[in-house]
Amino acid sequence: MMRQMELVERVRSYNPHADEDLLNRAYVYAMRAHGTQKRASGDPYLSHPLEVAAILTDLHLDDATIVAAVLHDTIEDTAATRSEIDQLFGKEIGALVEGLTKLKRLDLVTRKAAQAENFRKLLLAVADDVRVLLVKLADRLHNMRTLHFVAPEKRARIAEETLEIYAPLAGRMGMQGMRDELEDLAFKAAMPEANATIAERLENLRASYGASIEKIEKELAQELAVRNINAQVTGRLKHPYSIWRKMERKSIGFEQLSDVYGFRALVNNPDDCYRVLGVVHLKWAIVPGRFKDYISAPKQNDYRSIHTTVVGPGRKRVELQIRTHEMHEIAENGIAAHVLYKDGRVGGDANLSQESRAYQWLRRTIEMLNQGDTSEEFLEHTKLELFHDQVFCFTPKGRLIALPRGATPIDFAYAVHTDVGNKAVGAKINGRVSPLFSKLHNGDEVEIVRSEMQTPIAAWENLVVTGKARAAIRRATREARRTQFMGFGRQIVARAFERAGKPYSEENLKAALPRLAQPNVEDLLAAIGRGEIYAGDVIKANYADYQEERKEERKAGAVAALSEPGWFGLKKGASVVFKVPGQNSSDAAAIPIRGITSELPVRFAPNGGAVPGDRIVGIVTPGEGITIYPIQSPDLTAFDDQPDRWLDVRWDIENDQKNLFPARISVTALNEPGTLGMVASLIGETGANIENIAFANQSADFREMIIDIAVWDIKHLSTILTQLRSRAVINKVERVNG
Ligand code: MN
Repeated sequence: MMRQMELVERVRSYNPHADEDLLNRAYVYAMRAHGTQKRASGDPYLSHPLEVAAILTDLHLDDATIVAAVLHDTIEDTAATRSEIDQLFGKEIGALVEGLTKLKRLDLVTRKAAQAENFRKLLLAVADDVRVLLVKLADRLHNMRTLHFVAPEKRARIAEETLEIYAPLAGRMGMQGMRDELEDLAFKAAMPEANATIAERLENLRASYGASIEKIEKELAQELAVRNINAQVTGRLKHPYSIWRKMERKSIGFEQLSDVYGFRALVNNPDDCYRVLGVVHLKWAIVPGRFKDYISAPKQNDYRSIHTTVVGPGRKRVELQIRTHEMHEIAENGIAAHVLYKDGRVGGDANLSQESRAYQWLRRTIEMLNQGDTSEEFLEHTKLELFHDQVFCFTPKGRLIALPRGATPIDFAYAVHTDVGNKAVGAKINGRVSPLFSKLHNGDEVEIVRSEMQTPIAAWENLVVTGKARAAIRRATREARRTQFMGFGRQIVARAFERAGKPYSEENLKAALPRLAQPNVEDLLAAIGRGEIYAGDVIKANYADYQEERKEERKAGAVAALSEPGWFGLKKGASVVFKVPGQNSSDAAAIPIRGITSELPVRFAPNGGAVPGDRIVGIVTPGEGITIYPIQSPDLTAFDDQPDRWLDVRWDIENDQKNLFPARISVTALNEPGTLGMVASLIGETGANIENIAFANQSADFREMIIDIAVWDIKHLSTILTQLRSRAVINKVERVNG
């Protein structure tokens, strides 16, 4: 564990004016506060905040940030309080530590959907001080470095969150070094198999290309030296995760990656960057479309560099970055390299002259985030696709409610509690009275106004997008409707007896039950009310000689019911949940699709099916049912000239849905023993089911397998495709539709 003096020395190495006393007091305070607490590794807890501080000293951050790092877990995990820290270390540090405490509490929200929210709140929390974010990233980095001590079931979640939230954030803050390390660690933990496969293939590449990397390095350096350009040329293999991401994004195999290794030339000044570029472009042919000048036009996060790709020595593609040492430092360490600290003075105030462009950028994005309207746009650009179709809202007490996009206050109410939904009469969004059909936005605070007199209205079904709300509304309105129909039925049947001159009583109804195949009086009355059973038949069941006089009675119940607004039929856009034929048991086997307007059975297209995330359409076959196709299915062309049969449908998926959906893939692999077993076990390990395997084409070298699998959603499917593509024996992997 780092000793007290070491911490001070680390800070003083880059800041001779560091407040030694302050650092010492923080060290002692944290040591006392954490006392005998231990980390999962068995180390004293204090070692963690100290390591976090050490990471930040490498980034040359100011005293306040270092002290905040040392204290960052005290408020949450020990008896320490904000006011005590304010008193001992000043309000600036107190505010930083409190910001970190808030972020830490967010980490406790473990639901999948909550991650983007963590991210958003995370940014909001640092709106007034970016240093909180820097400490948080360092905190995450140290936790990732020590992840192997954590229980395995927690590991994957932390690693995924790191890949999805923190690593991209580090990248956006221009801290490439931090990003690379976070990704390396997280990829290993989240997808050990994939990581191992790619690492192994990179190792093979290194073995076979190692010499040529050196050769290219040398040749480049020589060319530059001849022209008196002082440059440091290095070649390196890319990181496994960046290769994986590229394979996933472009749906290509490892072999098709042309730029698995890259080169970098570091020079002393911007002029030299362009001189290097001139030399390289004159000597070798440029690969079109790959040239970018981020020196002339820096990225938003202040990244500056020239990128080019040429056909270099030995006809090998050479991807080259050209930049100065200073630009490199900024690219690796980002806003940290600008050091919010200057001239030995503790910085961090919103002193514009001290703000780097990156810091300004971060401010801009945070401001944008705070202006309600554009927050979704912002999220679209910064967070992950996984959360694209969700909104995050709060109850007045601050509880987070995640809903699908398009959700209304009614969805919100039912998400809070069924009773809240059933009694809802109005809503306040961000304090303003708003209609129940308003669309909710990210960050909205929603208060539901309730009344004990209220019961759900059937028409609400058309205003909700969540299954929970719809089910609850249907249950409640079904009850109400039944009561209503029973009332109609009783009136109809009583009047019929009266007209027939027969005495009416419950006994009469009971006597009619067996003949009319009704289980009880309530059901009989409801059936009469719905117009399914003649009142005349009830009389006949009691008096066999009874002659009917009127025929129109049949419809009386239905007509009466129809005159009640909102009671009847499914409106366009309403949804019905159907059982999947052939799937086993329970409610879980419903096809979660919205937009079905009739009671026809629903099924997935026989060739390949559809999975959540696909754009889908329904095709109606009269007398048979509705078939759901993904929009890319070639089978759909058969219905091109029958627009009447097309039905607009969309997925209705809950966050925690655990159903599997059918998809078909084609895998072309080397025809050698063990391939099939490898493919099967790889698919199985991802949690997908294999439903069927058929061999399509077989040659001496290769064979093509058509595999029907069942997956959760398109992301799951794409992970499987990419995993397969990363294998050396596999030549081609494709999704098949039709
Ligand atoms: Mn921590």
